[in-house]
Amino acid sequence: MVTWIESGSTKPKIGFIGLGIMGRPMAKNLIKAGYDLTVYNRTTAKTEEFRGLGARVGDTPADVAKGSDVVITMVSDTPDVEEVILGSQGVIHGARPGSVVIDMSTISPSATREIAQKLAERGVEMLDAPVSGGEKGAIEGTLSIMVGGKKEVFDRCVPVFEAMGKNIVHMGPNGAGQTTKLCNQVLCSLTILSMAECLVLGAKAGLDLEKLLQAVSGGAGGSWSLSNLGPKVIRGDFSPGFMVKLHQKDIRLVLNLANQLGVSLPGTALANQLFNAVEGQGEGNLGNQAMIKPLEKIAGCEARK
Ligand code: NAP
Repeated sequence: MVTWIESGSTKPKIGFIGLGIMGRPMAKNLIKAGYDLTVYNRTTAKTEEFRGLGARVGDTPADVAKGSDVVITMVSDTPDVEEVILGSQGVIHGARPGSVVIDMSTISPSATREIAQKLAERGVEMLDAPVSGGEKGAIEGTLSIMVGGKKEVFDRCVPVFEAMGKNIVHMGPNGAGQTTKLCNQVLCSLTILSMAECLVLGAKAGLDLEKLLQAVSGGAGGSWSLSNLGPKVIRGDFSPGFMVKLHQKDIRLVLNLANQLGVSLPGTALANQLFNAVEGQGEGNLGNQAMIKPLEKIAGCEARK
């Protein structure tokens, strides 16, 4: 067992940056698991509840990094991760050599490798560790976590991951976690599409949609999207577990990689076009189950209870 410098024990002191839909429950699970946490969020109001839970609140990402053995970032997009890690008040200006930065956002694999390189020049390790399992998985601590970076650094951080997730896989060097996540987003895009087409057809045919979900969810066509997003659609609940605009960010990363590699992904490109239609209606902040909306328009019916 390795002793971490700041904590002086086998349990690292953790800094957590980004308390959004995912970061908030993930940070809470770390506190529940007994970790000493310092949090930072750009919109400071979101940090208040964490003071009540015994966490410290840092003024800047650099400030958070100063007292931490491990700094976790969970922000939106590639430029946001670059800003909180490499920006003028970024983690890199506070992190001590030997500490570990774990980026759990979904961002570009190549930008990840560049960030890891810049941190390595300061003696700071990095893991890319994007997640899958949605807000529900974040709340329940059952996320799938796909990790890139040095194996020995991964091994040291496994207990930290175990406080937030269940299926934790080391995929290879830096960038391999993010590349895995992009493959995962191909699956998610198409299971949402299949959920949406299934419900629109059932609705137009006059089926009881609750019974439809009950009948097909456990069969060969079942999926996380069908079981978790299907019920939301038929309740008319389009609140975001994962926003359309962030899903579009992931699809852009997927299609960029596919373009670079000469891989054809017609299904993912179709999902992209349907989400464009949702964004065209000014609804990019809805949950990604809103992919059904343009299909409902085309079919001339709504898939509601
Ligand atoms: P979210 O609710 O929009 O939260 C984003 C967080 O990032 C907020 O705390 C936001 O701060 C912060 N942030 C964004 N840009 C920033 C910047 N430039 N500087 C500092 N802070 C910044 O998004 P989310 O759903 O939690 O997603 C976070 C990441 O997880 C994304 O990469 C997403 O793709 C990935 N992810 C999401 C899900 C899901 O189901 N939601 C599942 C798997 C992976 P403010 O509070 O100030 O806005």
